[in-house]
Amino acid sequence: MARAAPAQKVPRVLRLLGGREDDAASDQGAPIVELSGVCKNYVTGPEPVRALIDVELRISVGEFVAVIGASGSGKSTLMNILGCLDRPSSGDYLLGGVSVGARSVDERALVRNRMIGFIFQGFNLLPRTTALENVELPLVYRGTPRRQRRRMALEALAQVGLIDRALHRPNELSGGQQQRVAIARALVTRPPLLLADEPTGNLDSKTTGDVLDLLERLVQEERITLVLVTHEDDIAARAHRVLTVRDGRIERDSPNHTPPPPLTRPADGLESGR
Ligand code: ADP
Ligand code: MG
Repeated sequence: MARAAPAQKVPRVLRLLGGREDDAASDQGAPIVELSGVCKNYVTGPEPVRALIDVELRISVGEFVAVIGASGSGKSTLMNILGCLDRPSSGDYLLGGVSVGARSVDERALVRNRMIGFIFQGFNLLPRTTALENVELPLVYRGTPRRQRRRMALEALAQVGLIDRALHRPNELSGGQQQRVAIARALVTRPPLLLADEPTGNLDSKTTGDVLDLLERLVQEERITLVLVTHEDDIAARAHRVLTVRDGRIERDSPNHTPPPPLTRPADGLESGR
């Protein structure tokens, strides 16, 4: 099975939205995410909830950033804005150098489909659908022809070590395998930015280690930028950088000086079968 090309190119969508032809966002060290003065207010009751307050954040291509903080501090709100699921109430969001914060619903859907992969705690796989079809789904939305779709989905499943489970349904897979299918689904569109909100929250510690090894390998080998919410210190310790969110503000932004532990898996895919 051929492996996908390693370099993450800036998708053409950014050019469609007004980005420059010589966009630098595919280069290691160039900014992929730039938030300036970002606020998010939720207006439900008489008093608006100030979920994010004046957030300044710059994330470079190829970084692995952990986001920690108490429940209700604004972590998911931040992820929803980074993922173009929601818009800032004020402030700017540049993704790959292109302003995306104030885009229409359709434009944000396009940016999500081309630029961003999501991994959730609950896996969010379609239950009566095979692993292969689950992974193909983002390509269906994109209108990729069937044969190409199948080939790309099989490549993504191979990348997470699950090629031999392609025709299994989620209930025939372990939790760790389901999360690896979800990672394959997030990767199949080759997004430069991967967002994970407590991705190992439902997994045991051994399986958590496997999933983190996989995510770390993607950051190292594919130059994917990873932003991962976690409440576990040992997971945050594996990131390059840790953001602490408190009451809607980034209270701390600290580099992790401890080098990450060596990969425990061979470079050509996780072993499957667990
Ligand atoms: P975390 O993910 O860190 O637990 P959230 O970003 O989910 O925090 O929430 C931040 C704050 O915004 C909380 O006070 C929460 O109650 C509020 N909040 C989140 N989503 C909504 C919403 N859709 N409507 C109103 N308030 C919300
Ligand atoms: Mg949350």
